[in-house]
Amino acid sequence: MKLDNKGLLIVISGPSGVGKGTVREALFKMTGHDLVYSISMTTRKPRAGENEGKEYYFVSRDQFETYIKEGKMLEYAEYINNYYGTPLDKVKEQLDIGKEVVLEIEAQGAQQVREKMKEAILIFIAPPSMKDLYNRLCRRGTESIQAIEERILKAQREIGLAYMYDYIVVNDTVENAADKIMAIIRAEHAKVERTIHKYKEILEVK
Ligand code: 5GP
Repeated sequence: MKLDNKGLLIVISGPSGVGKGTVREALFKMTGHDLVYSISMTTRKPRAGENEGKEYYFVSRDQFETYIKEGKMLEYAEYINNYYGTPLDKVKEQLDIGKEVVLEIEAQGAQQVREKMKEAILIFIAPPSMKDLYNRLCRRGTESIQAIEERILKAQREIGLAYMYDYIVVNDTVENAADKIMAIIRAEHAKVERTIHKYKEILEVK
């Protein structure tokens, strides 16, 4: 497959509370790559400080189910009684003009991307330990103890699915994790199937 003119689809996944969002923000502050964040759609209510079209597009269950039926979602998952999903059109549009698109999604969604877009790069962000994950969820203070325990159970299942990813990055520090992701992006750009066509032209190799 000729991939060299298309942007990379980079999927950052891993358990809730592992720090995916913080790592992604650190990654976006690094220079050298023009990354586009894919804003997800959800039926979850906005948390304090969240804004429509910034953290998420907030929609009703009926609206979300209509989008699913119309085939407008690249992937979606029902996660603790709410839908979360990636609108397909925007992702395609950006990839087609050569932009790198970053999705930050949970594991079921990542699995769907793996099935639909083989060329996607799947990165699993892992916690240094389960205790660390529990502490992070408590510190975040956005969930009840029951919700935290549900998220921990879910995390254990998600870690069991890590074999389908291309890379595992441990979030020991945000800087380390973001650095590793940038190194992965650079290495992916150097892959033969992404560069060979261009270099054959430049070097006039038939
Ligand atoms: P939160 O409610 O904490 O914002 O998100 C809950 C979980 O849903 C997180 O693991 C988050 O990464 C995931 N998530 C956010 N957007 C999407 C999406 O578009 N698709 C999927 N599959 N998961 C998402």
